[in-house]
Amino acid sequence: KQAEYAQLRDVPAVSLDGTEVSLMLNAGLMIDLPHLDETGASGIGLYRTELPFMARPSLPDVSSQRALYSKILDQANGRPVVFRTLDVGSDKVLPYWHGTPEDNPAMGWRSIRITLDRPAILREQLRALIQAASGRELRVMFPMVAEVDELLQSKKILKMELEEQAGAGFIPQSLKVGTMLEVPALVWQLKALLPEIDFLSVGSNDLMQFLFACDRGNPRMSERYDVLSPAALSVLKQIIDACNEAGVSCSVCGEMAGRPLEAVTLAALGVKTLSMSASGLGPVKVALRSADLGRVRDYVTQQLQTAPHSLRSRLRNYAVDMGI
Ligand code: PEP
Ligand code: MG
Repeated sequence: KQAEYAQLRDVPAVSLDGTEVSLMLNAGLMIDLPHLDETGASGIGLYRTELPFMARPSLPDVSSQRALYSKILDQANGRPVVFRTLDVGSDKVLPYWHGTPEDNPAMGWRSIRITLDRPAILREQLRALIQAASGRELRVMFPMVAEVDELLQSKKILKMELEEQAGAGFIPQSLKVGTMLEVPALVWQLKALLPEIDFLSVGSNDLMQFLFACDRGNPRMSERYDVLSPAALSVLKQIIDACNEAGVSCSVCGEMAGRPLEAVTLAALGVKTLSMSASGLGPVKVALRSADLGRVRDYVTQQLQTAPHSLRSRLRNYAVDMGI
């Protein structure tokens, strides 16, 4: 298998009916970077900036953040890198940050909620990113957005930093701004959201947790609800359709993107970019290259009309029958 994946390294993930899907990597630590060359991924679709923050004894200052982001862009060597702003809180605890205990930390003071309440942290991070990406492309993504207004406030802070840094001679060659879709409420704000962003990335780990009210880290319930259930797929389809209609690039960067059956289903629903851990890339590419996405789409949309617990076993049988 590994030899087969290595052979496909430089081959694009094009389906039998000619749709190309861009496969990118999720990363967070320097050790993830060599996987870019090993797998032939087209870039980093999700760089979790909180991981280096968690691995340190104190909050990193602008210059050490800048050095790190610079190194990542150097190693990506022209391939795009999506930097997600600090997504701490809930399961990602900073050892030097002593917050107040919360009954429901996953739904508590976390992520963009922290960085909007403590804008100095966000400003410093954006400053470091702008400086690191000076003369290159900068892609910034905001996590856990629940309201369009949170994105607008974050964009305002980004604009301030861009203006200030331009004065100091740091000017990214181009800028792309995106949000993650992890909170169900945002699905009903897509009309107002999409004109404000260049790309959207579905964080299916958190989205499914909140959609089914089911703790993503609780092993007792990890098998209880399925991302291939009609409910989950209907929500995903609604998001993907809205993005494609608005011409906003839509990716999925949660764990499901790195599993072959899920990846084929997402691509059939119209997702053109999938971001995943390095181990998923080979198997996902093989599956996509053997799939007729148009036929899978017809099958999935027809099956969505029924409402079993999950479409997984039907999709698996269908995939086997089609030689995927
Ligand atoms: C997600 O929620 O799906 C996601 C990609 O973000 P994280 O797993 O870092 O919360
Ligand atoms: Mg998340």
